[in-house]
Amino acid sequence: MMDNGVKRHDVIVVGGGQAGLAIGYFLAQQGRDFTILEAAAEPAAAWRERWDSLKLFTPARYNALPGRAFPGDPDTYPNRDDVVAYLTDYARDFNLPVELASRVRAIRKADAGYLVELDDRAYEADQVVVATGPFQIPFVPAIADQLGDEVVQLHSTTYRSPHSLPEGRVLVVGGGNTGFQIAEELAASREVHLSIGSRQTPLPQRILGRDLFWYLEATGLIRKTTESRIGRRLSGRDTLIGSTPRRLRRKHGAVLHGRAVSAVGSTVRFGDGTELEVDGVVWATGFKVDHSFIDASIFDDAGRLVHQRGVTESPGLYFLGLSWQHTRGSALLGWVKDDAEHIANQIQTFSPPAPAEPRAPEHVA
Ligand SMILES: Cc1cc2nc3c(=O)[nH]c(=O)nc-3n(C[C@H](O)[C@H](O)[C@H](O)COP(=O)(O)OP(=O)(O)OC[C@H]3O[C@@H](n4cnc5c(N)ncnc54)[C@H](O)[C@@H]3O)c2cc1C
Repeated sequence: MMDNGVKRHDVIVVGGGQAGLAIGYFLAQQGRDFTILEAAAEPAAAWRERWDSLKLFTPARYNALPGRAFPGDPDTYPNRDDVVAYLTDYARDFNLPVELASRVRAIRKADAGYLVELDDRAYEADQVVVATGPFQIPFVPAIADQLGDEVVQLHSTTYRSPHSLPEGRVLVVGGGNTGFQIAEELAASREVHLSIGSRQTPLPQRILGRDLFWYLEATGLIRKTTESRIGRRLSGRDTLIGSTPRRLRRKHGAVLHGRAVSAVGSTVRFGDGTELEVDGVVWATGFKVDHSFIDASIFDDAGRLVHQRGVTESPGLYFLGLSWQHTRGSALLGWVKDDAEHIANQIQTFSPPAPAEPRAPEHVA
């Protein structure tokens, strides 16, 4: 405890998802004094917010955090609850110090390190790791406000199952893995339309009996960094794993549309001028990140975070789990350990900058 009543740790980790737990594993191995502050009241909060039937696109073999294999047949695709159980057990079995219901409201530069403020308390730390997730704040486009009250609207984070929506015609907006999985599920019980704003490159889940990620590992593509030419090209394109527009149409009977551009009442209009009356809309339109609670000089003029593999210019302030932080694997269960180990090594070799010399009193003539 400091003289001012603020508790001090060597390191504070903000966020207790897979990235926070992975860095926690390495910090525990170093015997470091640290704590993990998690906003939610339960572990694995982000996974709990995902729909009931979610199947991972990575097989169990590639879902392991450091030090513990993901249980079950390595060649099967776990579901949401398997991940919740795995992360919950991981934190407990490695005795990681996770403080639940502890939302960090601000991180500020202090004389020595950082001041981390919560609603009811504050901490000081020499070093801070921000692991608040690559998919933080649900994003819904502005046209949602043009739809009438008679249309039931959900973001994918509040969609649980077909029971989340009334009977009738549903439009799913968003052509990523989430949009396709939800559209497939809904198509079993009602008329489903999918609006695809920008097409993602479809990749098969399995090729010649092996999982896609086996090939990404074997070819080294999963570890290509954003500094390489191919890494830069890959990071600019999202991929659709295991689904294709053609399959969704043919096998599941869904109707495909282009970008949804406007709406009036219960009518949605698409980029090609066609219109559709809907009873419900699922916005599978992604997320934004919010780092506005961090008060440090680590953002460029456009407000973008500036970092090298999660290491910022502010000494002792790091990020972990960002999308393409370093490679395609950076925000995936099975590869976040690579960046976590890198940040843990930075933390171990960190020496705090020397305190600024007290200024000599100005000479007054
Ligand atoms: C629909 C979907 C399917 C996915 N499927 C797969 C898959 O099959 N395989 C795979 O490997 N990856 C998958 N991912 C990607 C990735 O594994 C997950 O997004 C994962 O949840 C990221 O982990 P994280 O720890 O970085 O972030 P999160 O899981 O988002 O954890 C961040 C944590 O920080 C907490 N937090 C946020 N702000 C604060 C704050 N101010 N103070 C304190 N705590 C805070 C949050 O409550 C949260 O618990 C999927 C992602 C999505 C969206």
